[in-house]
Amino acid sequence: MSKHPVEKEHAVYLPQDEMPTHWYNILADLPEPLPPPLDPKTLKPMSPEPLLRLFAKDLIMQEVSTERFIKIPDEVHDAYLRLPRPTPLLRARRLEKFLNTPAEIYYKCEYVNPTGSHKPNTAIAQAYYNMVQGNERVVTETGAGQWGTALAMASALFGLKCSVYMVRVSYDQKPGRRIMMEVHGADVVASPSKNTKFGRSLLESDPSNHGSLGIAISEAIEDALGHDNTRYCLGSVLNHVLLHQTIIGLEAKKQFEMIDVEPDVICGCIGGGSNFAGFAYPFMADKLKGKSATEFIACEPKAVPSTTRGVYTYDFGDTAEMTPLMKMYTIGHKYQPPPIHAGGLRYHGKAPSLSFLINKGYMTSVSYSQTEVFEAARILAQTEGMITAPETAHNVKYAIDEALKCKKTGEKKVITFNNCGHGLLDLQAYDAFLNGRLEDYEPSKIEVPRIAD
Ligand SMILES: *Cc1c(COP(=O)(O)O)cnc(C)c1O
Repeated sequence: MSKHPVEKEHAVYLPQDEMPTHWYNILADLPEPLPPPLDPKTLKPMSPEPLLRLFAKDLIMQEVSTERFIKIPDEVHDAYLRLPRPTPLLRARRLEKFLNTPAEIYYKCEYVNPTGSHKPNTAIAQAYYNMVQGNERVVTETGAGQWGTALAMASALFGLKCSVYMVRVSYDQKPGRRIMMEVHGADVVASPSKNTKFGRSLLESDPSNHGSLGIAISEAIEDALGHDNTRYCLGSVLNHVLLHQTIIGLEAKKQFEMIDVEPDVICGCIGGGSNFAGFAYPFMADKLKGKSATEFIACEPKAVPSTTRGVYTYDFGDTAEMTPLMKMYTIGHKYQPPPIHAGGLRYHGKAPSLSFLINKGYMTSVSYSQTEVFEAARILAQTEGMITAPETAHNVKYAIDEALKCKKTGEKKVITFNNCGHGLLDLQAYDAFLNGRLEDYEPSKIEVPRIAD
């Protein structure tokens, strides 16, 4: 609730010297320990050692850490300041006026960096720790290309080689981000590819395989394991990725304090869950301590309904079953996501900590079709002047619906969302929407194999 309505405030800027110096680790505050990752062969908790071949050591330490605050290394802090950070917190007054709502709507601007999404917050940290360890090359997967672009940029900053397996359908349809990665010096391959055994096996049975994030992850892991001085990087889902993203929420908390406002509703879209967790967890810390009644809502596409129609169970993170099993909301690691434009939300599973919080009732979730989220994004563009990513459009949809509810009830809720990406490389999707060519997808049946519970 806003204690002192600040009529003049439109954008809240946190000075650079007040940018947080530590990331927030929610594992320190969960009411019970997170179910551990399991070794798929033994179904026993996985020890972190085998993962050292796959990830930089400091990232594995962060993955299992239960320390509440983890220091941001000076070089990472410096790179954040140059993105630049802190990012502004904006009040969407024209949107409020258009909706004629008593609610207040705020959003955090994570699109104001050269790659246009929140992904550099972790890409910079991951590239840094790989550089410190003396690794020469990082390899990863990317769907629509946001993550690949961020890692390509960060790798260039820290002098690493970078290879990206890009889901073939995006590689063919969205050349913009492929080109950005190449300008940053990365090597970009359409997945499934002939580079890996798994890729070749898929192409043999179906030469026109469109690929998926799960397949691209399998290929990137196989590549990393097969090359010396190479490590794998993941753009979401894992604890350390969510940890790095908490810079968003830690800044936002300070910004809300600066204007003496407390958010009542915090919503965000979930692909693997990192931007929403990064924004929400510093506020969730208060809820876990019983100090706030803020509502948290995760928004996902109806085409990939992991938390709204999936199961909370152990599943693989990739299609070829190379990862440890993680307990999470999943629609099954063999699920082939339909070609919705929100490429960042086409992942079968969701981050374990976020899944835990949803399962325990600390958060709720909703799902939307793609035409309804593009309609919300159109309203935002025509009121606030901001063309968001199709992923972000899911948050906008929730915020608008909630504000319209407030109009009916007269409630003056403070609604806030993470504006996690711009849509300037998604204009064909907007074109399809404006010309009535956008299709909605909804799986009729979802079957999740039970591996372990
Ligand atoms: C990658 C991406 C997402 C989805 O990933 P999360 O880890 O859930 O944040 C959402 N929005 C944008 C703009 C993205 O680039």
